Amino acid sequence: MLGGGQLGGFFAEAALRMGYKVAVWDPSESAPAKRFATHKFNTPFSDANTLNEFVSTVDAVSLEWENIPVELVEAIQSHKPTRPSSKSLGLAQNRIKEKQFLRDNGFPLSEYKEINRPSDLVKVDQELPWIVKTATMGYDGHGQWRINTEHERDQMSSQISGEGPWVAEKVVPFEMELSVVVVQGTDGTCITYPATENTHENGILRMSMCPARIDPSTELSAQNLAKEVIKSIGDPGVFCVELFLVNPDKILVNEIAPRPHNSGHHTIDSFSISQYEHQVRALCGLSISQPLRISSTVLLNVLGDEATTLSRAETTDLILKTGRARIYMYGKESVRPGRKMGHIIFSGDNIDVLEKEASEALAVLSDR
Ligand code: ATP
Ligand code: MG
Repeated sequence: MLGGGQLGGFFAEAALRMGYKVAVWDPSESAPAKRFATHKFNTPFSDANTLNEFVSTVDAVSLEWENIPVELVEAIQSHKPTRPSSKSLGLAQNRIKEKQFLRDNGFPLSEYKEINRPSDLVKVDQELPWIVKTATMGYDGHGQWRINTEHERDQMSSQISGEGPWVAEKVVPFEMELSVVVVQGTDGTCITYPATENTHENGILRMSMCPARIDPSTELSAQNLAKEVIKSIGDPGVFCVELFLVNPDKILVNEIAPRPHNSGHHTIDSFSISQYEHQVRALCGLSISQPLRISSTVLLNVLGDEATTLSRAETTDLILKTGRARIYMYGKESVRPGRKMGHIIFSGDNIDVLEKEASEALAVLSDR
């Protein structure tokens, strides 16, 4: 596994359960996935000796982080099966390439303009408001600036940081945000999980509901759109397609993750096959099957200091009391504002009841 975050950790747990051993390469010694690793590589991704050692240790390679260097994946895939490959990684780690790919393949997406310098913002001929995003290295809303007015646009050129290029994306007046996890096998079989309904705070996923509260035909359109996007890439692996539901006749593609997704954590609890087991299956060339849904779920992300509050025994107990909550903590050593520290899955029959419980838990954790 390239990358040692929580996604890699859940992959490793699934793989260990199925009888595999898992080597994790991540420069951080205390990366969450290392808790489950049978082999640990702690050097930077640019280390040539580790590359040789890693390649001779493993039989197949997957990834869990968008910013793994594409050159590293190219070097590995010439020796060992690597799923997904550098093709989907290269698309996902550059917003401009990703958007061009989507547009060239006829998929609907939000309007945007590319800029090479922040000072070019004033020349962008496109209706406001916008969200300006860096083309590379963005995550959890980092590297994004919202611009509502012409005045803000003029101010922004001195505030935008990071390396260009950037995209100025029109703000989409969506009814709901959805995401669909798609699995593609080595034999071309392609399945989707039901869409989840997602809410974000400051660009970070806050809650994720499954099933989404949409009608069956919208559900079908969302799943089909996501499936077509991944089929057009044609790479085996687990992917997530993030969508903006503008109205039932208009669903836009926001972005593609070439890996399991935060909004798919619930598949561990509420599906016969989790997204992580499917990542193992796709990697090892095993069959990909349509998973069965066992219950409805609401996922609540535990962000930053909420983890400190949750770690108190009385808070943990309060959350667990309903009997519907399951706590997952990632074992991250340092707490930073907005950092994903863990999540709680509320399982049951009624999504509205679960959402209420998740909101009550959030109020306890965040003191709001
Ligand atoms: P991640 O990789 O964590 O999903 P990211 O930093 O790559 O996030 P995006 O998915 O592009 O960023 O944006 C994060 C969130 O910001 C979106 O899920 C959505 O809530 C909001 N957002 C982004 N772009 C737009 C847009 N054009 N219109 C409206 N909201 C947007
Ligand atoms: Mg996103």
